[in-house]
Amino acid sequence: MKSKIALLLPYFLLTLISCENNSSDKQTPIEAEPIFMDLSSYYSQSNLKSTNGEGVPENLRVLKAEYFTTGESGKIGRTVFFMNVGNKKLDADFVPHLDFSLDGTTDITYYIDENRPSSDLALSETTAAIQRAMATWDGVTCSNLNMTQLPYSGKPTGFIAALLGFGGSFNYFGDVTHCGWLPTSFFDLIDVDGGSYILGVTFTIIFTNSDYDNNKKADVAWREIYYNDGFSWRIGDHYDLETIALHESGHGLSQGHFGKAFLDAGTGKVHFSPRSVMNAAYSGIQTHIEKTDNAGHCSIWANWPN
Ligand SMILES: [Zn+2]
Repeated sequence: MKSKIALLLPYFLLTLISCENNSSDKQTPIEAEPIFMDLSSYYSQSNLKSTNGEGVPENLRVLKAEYFTTGESGKIGRTVFFMNVGNKKLDADFVPHLDFSLDGTTDITYYIDENRPSSDLALSETTAAIQRAMATWDGVTCSNLNMTQLPYSGKPTGFIAALLGFGGSFNYFGDVTHCGWLPTSFFDLIDVDGGSYILGVTFTIIFTNSDYDNNKKADVAWREIYYNDGFSWRIGDHYDLETIALHESGHGLSQGHFGKAFLDAGTGKVHFSPRSVMNAAYSGIQTHIEKTDNAGHCSIWANWPN
């Protein structure tokens, strides 16, 4: 009996090892290290002007971008830092003080630019989907954002669009500004691997040399969201705009990416644990916020505007 077990033991061990190998092959964890990109050559362009003829204001800079991928590419969203602050992790938040609130209130405002429509959807559909996404965040009960949409003025938006030569404005339009759809060539500028798998991106624009509330975080002037017109946009199907607007608006409201990403060797797709709106890649329609999204939001906003 003993010898039989001894004979079988190597077989069991081999089976165990091969099982483990299989499972680790199938589920490879993906890390998304932040990237640094230097924009100083853009700021110093002597002929740099926005669509309205303004130059870059000295008191405003782009701090970072957080981009969101298809997930089918096996890539996940990363954070791109544009200000070299050494190995310090400079973060940023909105400041509940009227001197630093460009709309003159402590309410959180948003703006939807209709100058850059999607090639696939009607403006009425895209505006409604973005409004639903904003309303979902506004509906989180721990916070009192008094979220309001500022009326469309017809003027072009986009600090980063103006900076990178895609037409825009260095002016404020809303705390969270949905700047619309731009071609993939815009997204190519924000990642060394190109922008062909980037669905959307949120930029954080900060006041330079300002930390009004002394919390070691930069003070947010506003955030800008762009969608990649290189993809087919849908409502209620892939790629679902409300899902992606909800994700980008989460960044607009200061949340970062959340959840562990794994590459499935079988399908080549990324999946997340736990699944949430703030996962770094698209993994299907998701128009309701999950427990972890709620917790992240509440940790930032529960005491606003105090
Ligand atoms: Zn993201």
